[in-house]
Amino acid sequence: MPADIKSLTREEITALLVQQGYPAYRGGQVAQWLDKGCTSFDEMTDLPPKLREELNRQFIIPSVSILQKLQSSLDETTKYLFGLYDGETVESVLMSYHHGWSQCLSTQVGCRMGCSFCATGMGGLSRNLLPAEMMSQIETAQKDRSIRVSSVVLMGMGEPLDNYDNVLRFLHMLSEPSGVHIGMRHISLSTCGLVDGIYRLMEEKLQLTLSVSLHAPNNDIRSTLMPINRRWPIEELLKACREYIKATGRRISFEYAMIDGVNDSDACAEELAARLRGMLCHVNLIPANSVSGASHRRSSQARLQQFSKILGNHGLTVTVRRTLGADINASCGQLKRKHREEE
Ligand code: SAH
Ligand code: SF4
Repeated sequence: MPADIKSLTREEITALLVQQGYPAYRGGQVAQWLDKGCTSFDEMTDLPPKLREELNRQFIIPSVSILQKLQSSLDETTKYLFGLYDGETVESVLMSYHHGWSQCLSTQVGCRMGCSFCATGMGGLSRNLLPAEMMSQIETAQKDRSIRVSSVVLMGMGEPLDNYDNVLRFLHMLSEPSGVHIGMRHISLSTCGLVDGIYRLMEEKLQLTLSVSLHAPNNDIRSTLMPINRRWPIEELLKACREYIKATGRRISFEYAMIDGVNDSDACAEELAARLRGMLCHVNLIPANSVSGASHRRSSQARLQQFSKILGNHGLTVTVRRTLGADINASCGQLKRKHREEE
C-alpha cells in the first residue's frame, strides 16, 4: 500500500526526495502544497510531471471529503459527516464562540470503549484515524466556511488515547507554524480514563488541556456506564489525574454528563465533591444527549442547577456546558448512525 505522505515532516519528505535524486528544494515545494491543504499531487503544478507521477505511485494524501453537512438555524454550529479514502465515515462539529471558531474532531472510526450512553460506542471500533485525516477535518471545514479554526477539542468519535501515536503526531503537526498552526494551549484532549495513556501523556509535558470523562462519583455507577472503569477503577484514575496535575501544572477538566435518575442526585454531588477535594480541576456538567437505542434521559435544568450549586458550595469550579446546535443534534455519533441506516 502507498505510504501516507501527510504523516511525514518537511525534513522527512525532503530526505526521501534527495535520496531519489531530486534537489532538496522539491521537498519544500511538496510540503508547502500539503500545508495549504492540497489533496492531489496533480494539483502541484510547479513540480515536473515525472516527479508528480513518482509521488502518485509512492504516496497517498489521506484527506476527508464532505458527505453531509447540517447547519444549525439557532447558532453558527455546523456538523459534518466526512468520508474517508476507504469508504469509512466520521463526524466533526464546528462551533462559534466569542473567542473564535472551535472544532470538535474525531480520532477513530468508531470506538471500542463501549460506554452505554454514547452513540459512537454502540458500533464498536473500525479503525484508527491517521494524523492526516485528523488534520484534514480542520482544513476541509476551514475551506468550506472560509474561516480559521482557533481551537480544537478531541471530543468527536473515538478515544484519543486508544490511538496514542497518531494523535500525538497530529498534535505536533497542528502546532507547526507552517501549517494550521494551533498551539497546545488551544487544544483539549478528552479521555474516558485510559490510565496508562494518561501516564504516557504526562511524560510529554504538553500544555494542552486534559479532559477526563468521569460521569460518576463512585465505581458502582461508573462501571455500569463505562466498561473501562472495570479495568481502571475511579481510585486509580483519580490518582493518575493527581500525578498528571503535579507533573504538568495544568488544571484537569472533568466532564460529567447528567443522566436523569442515574448520576444526578444530591448524594452523588456530595460524593463527587469529596472525591475531587483539593484538586486543581474544573467540573463541566453536560446535559446528557439522548441516543436512540439507549434508555438514558437528560437531567432537568433544575437538577443541573442544584447539582452545580452543591459542587460550588464545596469550593469546586463548575460550568454547565452550553448546548450549541441543539436543532442538529450536534453531539457526535448520531449522524453517522442515521447515514448508515439510510443507506
Ligand atoms: N472518547 C473520549 C472523547 C470522545 S467522547 C471520551 O470519552 O472522553 C466526548 C465526550 O462526550 C465525552 O465526555 C463523552 O463521555 C461525552 N458523551 C458521549 N455520549 C454522550 C451523550 N449521549 N450525552 C452527553 N455526553 C456524551
Ligand atoms: Fe468511546 Fe468516548 Fe463514546 Fe466512551 S464516550 S464509547 S470512550 S467515544
